[in-house]
Amino acid sequence: MEKSGKSREFKGSDTVAVHAGRFPAIENAPSSPALYQASSYEFDDLEDVEAIYGGARPGAIYGRYGGPNALHFESAVAELESAEAAVGAASGMAAIGAALATSLDPGQPIIAAAGLYGGTLALLENDFQQRGNRTVFAEIPGDFGELEAIFARERAPLLYVEAASNPLVRIPDLPRLVRLAHAYGAIVVVDATFVTPILGKPLDWGADLVLHSVGKYLGGHGDVGAGVVAGDRDRIDRLRAYLIRNGATLPHFEAWLALRGLRTLALRMARHSANASAVAAYLAGVPAVARVHHPSRPEHPEHDLAARLYPGGTGGIVAFDLHGNRETVAAFVRGLETIAIVHSLGEVATTLSYPAVSSHRSLTPAARAALGVSETTVRLSCGIEDARDIIADLEAAFAGLSQTVPATELPV
Ligand SMILES: *Cc1c(COP(=O)(O)O)cnc(C)c1O
Repeated sequence: MEKSGKSREFKGSDTVAVHAGRFPAIENAPSSPALYQASSYEFDDLEDVEAIYGGARPGAIYGRYGGPNALHFESAVAELESAEAAVGAASGMAAIGAALATSLDPGQPIIAAAGLYGGTLALLENDFQQRGNRTVFAEIPGDFGELEAIFARERAPLLYVEAASNPLVRIPDLPRLVRLAHAYGAIVVVDATFVTPILGKPLDWGADLVLHSVGKYLGGHGDVGAGVVAGDRDRIDRLRAYLIRNGATLPHFEAWLALRGLRTLALRMARHSANASAVAAYLAGVPAVARVHHPSRPEHPEHDLAARLYPGGTGGIVAFDLHGNRETVAAFVRGLETIAIVHSLGEVATTLSYPAVSSHRSLTPAARAALGVSETTVRLSCGIEDARDIIADLEAAFAGLSQTVPATELPV
């Protein structure tokens, strides 16, 4: 982009300060993608403006329209999801809002799994409700006959599901859900944050859009806030235009971090999954634990389905119910040394959340119970440490528990 005149010597220090060092003379490529932390891009001349705006020549225009780092990350996700295209967003919620807004006309109902991520529930029950998009909640996974009756009654154009539920890791039969929804002319949008394309690809099962909260596993290191949606080119083009209009596109540095995270995603997901299974097996033998919720356990309702859909595992989430009450949970948490209370998941470190006071706080105990979440349900997001160290920390907390909890609270 050397323009005539740019080689002439600058005079004033103020001019030098503004222009010096903008065109470093490096010709070979960096071994990792450069970070383009630029809010706008230069054009050679007015023909160039025309070519880039018109799409005849690839080029960036303005930060909010998306920069090179967002494009790098989006193309990587599209390839991982076997999708035609993908678009990044400022957060998982921005991705969800855009996916729904560009798929629904005002007045059209949505069918969704009960027990969705709290932020998604809030979005549906406030903004989409107000827009005239009522949500009909269905028990998913649940009885397919009942679900079919809902499809027949509601004529909803969209089914919204999560690939694994929070916190109990219930696994919907996505291929079968897609067949049912498509038979009723509905598209299927899947939040696959918990499983990532390494463990399962909803688009391969016929889903229409798949999305992720990138700050969880895709980013993986607890330092990114971003979202991404993948699907066919038409839908993604509409989503991109919507995100640009709403100022909710993916910022450059977040995109750069997210792509760096993807490099180790396969290794991390294998370890997260293996650690979750190891921790679930350990928890199943702990007397203070009333119930373990993890697909690797034979008593899990989708034990066989999960093994078929996700042979590589279902990620790092494991939940369990303690015998006792809130005090028991508080005492257990106090006894942990390295496992911190963190209201996120998918980080390299093992973290814990207590749904009754966090993700499921706004629900009544009865509503939580209807979702299978009790007053003593604890969720672990197993990290990539040595499983023996995760278990050792849990063991110490359980040992402390048997000393502090009245004997009447313990199982006989
Ligand atoms: C965290 C999360 C979201 C929301 O993503 P943000 O990046 O926090 O906006 C959506 N779905 C699931 C399953 C999540 O875990």
